Amino acid sequence: MYQQIVIAGGGQAAVQAVDTLRRKGYTGGVTLVGEEPWLPYQRPPLSKKYLAGALERERLTIRPEKFFTEHNVQTHLGRRVTGIERREHRVQLDDGRALPYDALLLATGSHPRRLTAPGADLGGVYYLRGIADADRIRAECAAGGRLVVIGGGYIGLEVAATARELGMEVTVLEMADRVMNRVVCAELSAFYEAEHARHGVRVLSNARVRALAGDAGNGRVRAVLTEDGAEHAADVVIIAVGVAATDELAAAAGLECGNGIRVDEHCRSSDPDIYAAGDCANHPSPRYGRRLRLESVDNAFEQGSSAALNLMGTPTVHDKLPWFWSDQYDLKLIIVGISTGYDAVIVRGAPAARAFSVCYLRDGELIAIDSVNAPRDQMAARKLIAARGRPNLDKLADPGIALKDTL
Ligand SMILES: Cc1cc2nc3c(=O)[nH]c(=O)nc-3n(C[C@H](O)[C@H](O)[C@H](O)COP(=O)(O)OP(=O)(O)OC[C@H]3O[C@@H](n4cnc5c(N)ncnc54)[C@H](O)[C@@H]3O)c2cc1C
Repeated sequence: MYQQIVIAGGGQAAVQAVDTLRRKGYTGGVTLVGEEPWLPYQRPPLSKKYLAGALERERLTIRPEKFFTEHNVQTHLGRRVTGIERREHRVQLDDGRALPYDALLLATGSHPRRLTAPGADLGGVYYLRGIADADRIRAECAAGGRLVVIGGGYIGLEVAATARELGMEVTVLEMADRVMNRVVCAELSAFYEAEHARHGVRVLSNARVRALAGDAGNGRVRAVLTEDGAEHAADVVIIAVGVAATDELAAAAGLECGNGIRVDEHCRSSDPDIYAAGDCANHPSPRYGRRLRLESVDNAFEQGSSAALNLMGTPTVHDKLPWFWSDQYDLKLIIVGISTGYDAVIVRGAPAARAFSVCYLRDGELIAIDSVNAPRDQMAARKLIAARGRPNLDKLADPGIALKDTL
């Protein structure tokens, strides 16, 4: 068994790995290195309640400081792992220190993709990933201010909803023909576009950003220019065009990478003593018969836990049914499963009632569900999808019949 485990990265996956290691009785040394100065924290509120000013920073913390001391975990916060010396089995930190390891867990997460358009580095232009970003954005969210969000994915739309509720004039520019196009079907995109419009947010699809124009006087952004020649006035711009795995450290150390750190079903990288979990890991899914890199709290939690069990010598295949949520206004969207490759969609309930589910099927099998304010459907769907259930389509379309009774 490994005597000394070092974890690079201090987010959801890292904390869950620590928790599992200690809960399952691992008595060896555990060291966590996180480049952010804070104890590991939850990111989802950063685009929701925290950005709205409705949640204190302390409430974001996943585990209090005493959790780490009581569980004998050495933490190096505000410290970055800058290199992995695989042969020597040690990592280098940005303060010049080296930490030896028997096993290393990479839980380095992901980071926002940068927009390459001219002017993307002007003042007043932000990306949202961490507390520091959210604090800077919040300081700019004044009622009446004009916010342009570039990217109509779930983070962009959550920020748009929050800013609108703070009284800002909000425009969302999405380059595809509909919002959230990567994850949900056209019906659900249309529902969300209508909800944002109802709240006074301008959502423009097929809007490709050409450049950001600045004010020569103060170096701040004043407008976003799109390829159709339109100019969208802005006091603040948030770029939310997706994230990329933080795998540079792994790649520099010669580990196999490609859309994240490539691991096997036991979370083990191409180096047998190095594991990866969370947003940074690209794993083979027996369930889906292909590789996945998921960006969700659930995946970070489950994979962090699976990695820990494998590190302790308990072989554990990571192949959980994925799920994800997004809160916009009073709408709670919960996505269970992955809908890619569906050949039929059935809507349960009326979107106008603002409580409904979209069921995705392939060859008659329920493969995923997006539920909006429909927690019962979502709970039942987990079991049905996991069991590869083939529901009766008429029953499925009838919201009066419980989802569990549709087989
Ligand atoms: C604004 C926002 C809203 C979100 N909302 C939702 C939601 O509603 N539902 C949902 O399921 N998911 C949501 N997510 C996604 C979710 O937060 C992530 O999937 C999750 O945090 C991934 O956890 P992780 O531990 O893999 O990585 P992270 O949480 O990114 O943690 C990785 C940590 O490692 C640190 N690190 C990186 N490199 C190094 C290094 N070399 N040395 C030391 N430390 C390093 C990073 O700075 C970071 O602190 C949201 C994300 C954001 C940004």
